[in-house]
Amino acid sequence: MSHSGTLYVVATPIGNLRDITLRAVDVLQTADIVAAEDTRHSAHLLAHLGIKTKLVALHEHNEHRAGEKLIAELRAGKSVALVSDAGTPGISDPGALFVQLAREAGITVVPLPGACAAVTALSAAGFAAPHFLFYGFLPASGSQRKKALETLRDQAATLVFYEAPHRVVESARDMAAMLGENRAMLIARELTKTFETLHRCALGEAASWLLEDDNRQRGEFVLLVEGAPSPDSAEIDENSARILKLLLDELPLKQAVKLASDISGAKKNALYDLALELKSL
Ligand code: SAM
Repeated sequence: MSHSGTLYVVATPIGNLRDITLRAVDVLQTADIVAAEDTRHSAHLLAHLGIKTKLVALHEHNEHRAGEKLIAELRAGKSVALVSDAGTPGISDPGALFVQLAREAGITVVPLPGACAAVTALSAAGFAAPHFLFYGFLPASGSQRKKALETLRDQAATLVFYEAPHRVVESARDMAAMLGENRAMLIARELTKTFETLHRCALGEAASWLLEDDNRQRGEFVLLVEGAPSPDSAEIDENSARILKLLLDELPLKQAVKLASDISGAKKNALYDLALELKSL
């Protein structure tokens, strides 16, 4: 029988402190140690919750060393709650290495779900694609960023990026140039906070929208880009597409696709893909 403690991976709010879960409060309260990316930052959260659990630092520069020490504590039966500055640890944040060390040491790892900026933005995007690709931060250098975007050009899944405010205009421009100006984009800024903004537009219009008002370039950003149009949808002739559009205005998607295929003779799969694209615009 193992007497080791448990490592809890705890998601915390991305802005609005009321987004903490009840379970996260329980675990932060009862854990022996809270391992935090920035102890000062997390001290505010714990103080807000009235929690006095001991905090230790675990960030990208000491993750291995601090991780080893915490594994020793876990082995001795202590329980540890891992948090990052905001959202879910390990998602564009430290944590993965420590979790791996814990796994190798045979420690039980328990994840506590909660806020994640990417998923929060996706939930309000209304993009119909059934898949998404979480990319996180693009490279800071322009040429590297363009190269990275090029590898994503044909990706059909919705693309999910994190971006820093001082690079958001540049990135939006590069995305339009490399992925195509006509794709839909969602700019999700300051999610859950006072100045939360969700703006949907064509990729080609994003940079000018951001530049129209300096405030639009402030804060934290998730950028979502609709996936590449399916090669099938390009095969549909204008008349079949027109029939499909008319039917989609009146009928549920599946019925509209079936009828449009019966009337026009176009392939059902291709019409279905086009219908999903039209619905997401
Ligand atoms: N672990 C976090 C998560 O689960 O979303 C992400 C941490 S990453 C270091 C920080 C980036 O996430 C920000 O630069 C921004 O791109 C995005 N982000 C975090 N909070 C956000 C918010 N409230 N609104 C929009 N984007 C946010």
